[in-house]
Amino acid sequence: MPKGVYTRTEKHKRNIKKVLRGRSLKPKTLKCLKCNHKLKEIEITSSRQKYCKKCKKEVRRNQKKIILQKFRKDNKEKAGEQRRKDRMKRRAIENNIIETFTNKEWLEKLEKTKGFCPECKKWFGVARLTLDHIYPISKANADFLKTGIKRVYTIKDVKPLCLSCNCKKGGNFA
Ligand SMILES: [Zn+2]
Ligand SMILES: [Zn+2]
Repeated sequence: MPKGVYTRTEKHKRNIKKVLRGRSLKPKTLKCLKCNHKLKEIEITSSRQKYCKKCKKEVRRNQKKIILQKFRKDNKEKAGEQRRKDRMKRRAIENNIIETFTNKEWLEKLEKTKGFCPECKKWFGVARLTLDHIYPISKANADFLKTGIKRVYTIKDVKPLCLSCNCKKGGNFA
């Protein structure tokens, strides 16, 4: 018979049945692998049981905990990596535009809003409003890569927006 070809004979089938029957049989005695507590017959539910009821719960809880910890750690690393990438991308873009307004000018513009977002008219407070480039910097960056001319942003080319309006706007020219 060539290697890898397997035909089930009656003998094989009988053997499998025997193995399965053996598995479903409850052993008379079992010891908990964790606390070494000798299980009573009534506590045994399967021949593959490893722990007593109490320890089983604990083992399950620990397994869940480990899985959750790993999941959280992986996610944290992923989020951190994304933030790093975003920051680098933004820095690259900021090198390809020119901002000609001063901090003072920007603060004055912020104060004028009295903390209200000019777009959605909700109040956020001056400190929570973000700087929005009216012509998106992603487009300005694309223009620069095409033409080699850096776009100049004066104080008139930026406006305060709340974070949610700024995110909604994204790369769209408003
Ligand atoms: Zn136990
Ligand atoms: Zn808003």
